[in-house]
Amino acid sequence: MTAEPGAEFALIGAHFAGLGAAREDVLLGVGDDCALLRVPPGQSLAVSLDTLVAGVHFFPDCDPHALGHKTLAVSLSDLAAMGAEPAWATLALTLPASDPAWLAAFAAGLGELARAHGVRLVGGDTTRGPLTITLQLQGLVPPEAALRRDGACAGDRIWVSGTLGDAALALAELQAGRDPDAALRARLERPTPRVALGRGLRGIASAAIDLSDGLVADLGHVLAASGVGAELRLGALPLGEAVAARADWSLALAGGDDYELCFCAPPGRDGEILALGQRLGCRLTPIGTIRGDDDTLRCLLPDGTVLNPTRRGYDHFAGA
Ligand code: ADP
Ligand code: MG
Repeated sequence: MTAEPGAEFALIGAHFAGLGAAREDVLLGVGDDCALLRVPPGQSLAVSLDTLVAGVHFFPDCDPHALGHKTLAVSLSDLAAMGAEPAWATLALTLPASDPAWLAAFAAGLGELARAHGVRLVGGDTTRGPLTITLQLQGLVPPEAALRRDGACAGDRIWVSGTLGDAALALAELQAGRDPDAALRARLERPTPRVALGRGLRGIASAAIDLSDGLVADLGHVLAASGVGAELRLGALPLGEAVAARADWSLALAGGDDYELCFCAPPGRDGEILALGQRLGCRLTPIGTIRGDDDTLRCLLPDGTVLNPTRRGYDHFAGA
């Protein structure tokens, strides 16, 4: 609650009521004690929540339109990795002050991506404090079709979408006081969630995860959940020009914020996967194989030597 409840409701009404796509399954949206949503029979609710903290997940002075986009994009990426169709969002906003220009730009960035993916904002909470943004996204997937982390099998090929390490390079450039070019910067600030890809992988992929903490850490979650190991061919990793020019494997292996999908599938599904990538205009690259002989992750350098990746994903409580 802010000091003036009237101002709080005016802020919600001006920027967040009616945000996103119109949906017939929203029986009641922003404005009551709860939203009422209709879940179709045979579908399960897929629910994901992410928090972005100023100074931890984004620069406090970053472009609010891009921040609105990224707030939803990171959750869309989670639903994509589950093979779910996004539907409804709720938003908890903690703001140091009510800045109408900032709020309008944030809501516009969030709203454009929400409409593009058929998502309706159906509720939230607004409080005063250090800038923190939490979005919960809900979607639909038949439970038997969901792309879980625990289905990878020995012999499966490992695939990734897009290119890896771009966001990590853009962040490194910004932290070094340099200005990454617009395309590289967009990979950090306006990630493209692979929603249609995740949906298309239903019935094809044996396991999937989205890459938010780096390939080694996130693929590691799939291996642990599935009780298998893997071999990655680093020479096969899809790299953009700027990342390739750095010759630094850690960008692609340990860099966060890619929001690409990493998934596994038996080699017999190669043709369908390549056709799906072509239909969606999304680069899909096989980068390795699931092994059943032990549960470690081996990385083969292009010259055939083995690299043992040590860098883990970002851990908020490391050393705490
Ligand atoms: P309550 O006191 O019942 O929790 P609130 O005063 O927090 O209600 O919110 C009033 C209405 O506005 C609710 O429907 C809530 O879901 C919605 N709401 C509050 N903040 C936001 C926000 N940031 N985005 C979208 N809806 C919001
Ligand atoms: Mg409330």
